[in-house]
Amino acid sequence: MVERRRILITNDDGYTAEGLQVLADALEGMAEVWVVAPNSEQSGVSHALTLDRPLRLERLGERRFAVDGTPTDCVTLGISSILDGRPPDLVVSGINFGGNMGVDVHYSGTVSAAFEGVILGSPALAVSQVRGEGLSFHHAARFARDLALWTLEKGLPSDTLLNVNVPVGKPKGVRLTRLGVRRYTEGVVEQIDPRGRQIFWIGGGEPIWESIHGTDFHEVGEGYISVTPLHLDMTQLDFLDELRRLGLDWSEQYDAAGG
Ligand code: MN
Repeated sequence: MVERRRILITNDDGYTAEGLQVLADALEGMAEVWVVAPNSEQSGVSHALTLDRPLRLERLGERRFAVDGTPTDCVTLGISSILDGRPPDLVVSGINFGGNMGVDVHYSGTVSAAFEGVILGSPALAVSQVRGEGLSFHHAARFARDLALWTLEKGLPSDTLLNVNVPVGKPKGVRLTRLGVRRYTEGVVEQIDPRGRQIFWIGGGEPIWESIHGTDFHEVGEGYISVTPLHLDMTQLDFLDELRRLGLDWSEQYDAAGG
């Protein structure tokens, strides 16, 4: 008997988020869909893993689970305890409410959950819907389904995921992109609380994006779905060689055998 393919779905907006349910519905039928998602909003938690308290799993339906932890906890628990330790054929994280482009991928719980899937041995996709007037998850869900089928068929290189951002409205098409560059304005807002104490809010200002052709931000801004391949290994290989050329191996000073 041929075993049915398994897809693990998670997100960082929480189990009740519309984007998660729409994604699960879109992928149902092409594989056995397992949903393991945080029981509360976890946006911006990046790759956090809960190590200082036990986690609880709530079964909410057939192959549907909520965890009182982070997106990374969900993938870890999902694969080790719910899927019996066997990596699923695909991990899909999303559909996030809001884009995850440029350096945002480093803060994103959505992207980090997909990376956790990669670390544990599955190909993975992160899917985000940019916010705006008339937002709908319909186009993102349809594209996620097509891309999931493509990825199941073709596979992905090791240590690699595909990061997808979908514009508001009907997409003009699809563009393969690199990460964009963003500058923050007024990143931290300072105010005085009702008791006269100083408070700080992070993320108060509107980000300004450099409009560089071929980046996720630029192409999404032009109305295209962007697909950016991301690599887990952040080693800057060119500079590694350059460091050697610059003599920073310091072998004479630091090698045990050295002087
Ligand atoms: Mn989110």
